[in-house]
Amino acid sequence: MRIDLHTHSNVSDGTETPSELIRSAAAVGLDVVALTDHDQTTGWAPAAAAANEIGLGFIPGMEITCQDPNGISVHLLSYLHDPNYQPLLDELDLALNARIIRAQRIVERLAEDYPITWDLVRNHCQPGSTVGRPHIADALVTAGVVENRNEAFANVLSYRSRYYVAHPAVDPSKAVQLVREAGGVPVFAHPKASKRGRVVADSTFHDMIDAGLGGVEVHHRDNSEEGKGWLLELAAEHDLIVTGSSDYHGTGKLNRLGENLTEPEMLQRIIQEGTGSQALM
Ligand code: AMP
Ligand code: FE
Ligand code: FE
Ligand code: ZN
Repeated sequence: MRIDLHTHSNVSDGTETPSELIRSAAAVGLDVVALTDHDQTTGWAPAAAAANEIGLGFIPGMEITCQDPNGISVHLLSYLHDPNYQPLLDELDLALNARIIRAQRIVERLAEDYPITWDLVRNHCQPGSTVGRPHIADALVTAGVVENRNEAFANVLSYRSRYYVAHPAVDPSKAVQLVREAGGVPVFAHPKASKRGRVVADSTFHDMIDAGLGGVEVHHRDNSEEGKGWLLELAAEHDLIVTGSSDYHGTGKLNRLGENLTEPEMLQRIIQEGTGSQALM
């Protein structure tokens, strides 16, 4: 069984539609794929329909943008939660609105030095999709400022850049609690991605575990090797689910479908614990 539990469609910052993504997953020989768009679940229905049609296993998921008390960005994967659980939807709505204002502010700052406008960014983002720096990166590519998203993130869109603006987001332990209340399984995404930015303190892991964290995404290209070892020890100590995934974004990132996989026993645990929505197996 080839299982990849972290992918993005154009409902957030991937480049394929949900059904195209499902067909891509089948084409590379995956047996089960989870769709985990940032802060949104509108891709679930078309992805499930496509998976059903071609006989691929499908796990509905989402990647929640969080921020810890030290201002460090945390991504929390949620599997099989109830997409209509209102307290979680309320938090996501706040975040999605804050994201729009924040993206506009980044664009305002960039526009002082580069030929970029908010309209150009909107053209690179599906209506209603989760807007973020990847869409600003696409606009910068169109404007001829950079070659690709990666170059944009290495320079003008880096969290260290003077154009960078943060946005408020839910506390990770609070998000863990909301996901559990919604019947979902919360898994800490790429927790040791030291290349991307600062990683959280050990105490944040323990706060999240106390709140009901279900698992950690160990096998991900952005985790440091040392970090993976540390995560495996943490998982053993606290009986956490261990996952491995690609974090595929279509052509928006180098990550390839199936480049990291999750063990079938771990998926079984997720399916057993997740009661808010249906896995398609
Ligand atoms: P934001 O949530 O708007 O701060 O943007 C962060 C998103 O950008 C993450 O979800 C990643 O998927 C994406 N991202 C981060 N680094 C890169 C990169 N080097 N190339 C393409 N996308 C990236
Ligand atoms: Fe992303
Ligand atoms: Fe992420
Ligand atoms: Zn992701």
